[in-house]
Amino acid sequence: MRMSARSIHETLERLAALLRAETRRLGKPEGLQPVQIDALLYLDHCNRYSNTPQAVAEYLGSTKGTTSQTLKVLESKNLLAKAQDQRDRRVVRLHLTSKGRTLATTLANLPLLESALSQDSLDAESLGEELGGLLRALQRAGGFRTFGTCRTCRFLTPAEGGLLCGLTREALRLEETQQICREHEEPRD
Ligand code: SF4
Repeated sequence: MRMSARSIHETLERLAALLRAETRRLGKPEGLQPVQIDALLYLDHCNRYSNTPQAVAEYLGSTKGTTSQTLKVLESKNLLAKAQDQRDRRVVRLHLTSKGRTLATTLANLPLLESALSQDSLDAESLGEELGGLLRALQRAGGFRTFGTCRTCRFLTPAEGGLLCGLTREALRLEETQQICREHEEPRD
């Protein structure tokens, strides 16, 4: 039987609330709120084209003002440092400090989720694919940015000796192709 949109919505809301509570518990020693943890985790996973205040706001779906407050808190706790872009002095780049990276690693691996996924009754791979498919469908329907990785981006271009971003025409290191990107676009049909 097909599950109704309402049932799926309720399930996703419950999942999100549980994961948020677990994240809040882990972030408590640093006194971080869930939105601040989300920003920290985003900056730990995004690539060099995506570490700006505007990209953080777009990813979190929040306003410029709210994002600015969130980033100020991370900066005041020495988890984040701001720097001017070397090529365009008007652009601010956000870099996690080593303290921020260490905390992000701890927060990214939620023990509660790890434990649930280790149960034999759950197939983590197909679950991930199903949820990823739903996310992409929602992004398409709402016209939101996809924030995917190079692997699924229409701009990824094989080049002599490696890979190139076809949008920026810059070479990509292998580890960069696994980071999320504000400029990501799915292949066109
Ligand atoms: S190939 Fe796509 S995802 Fe990768 S850096 Fe370029 S625009 Fe971003």
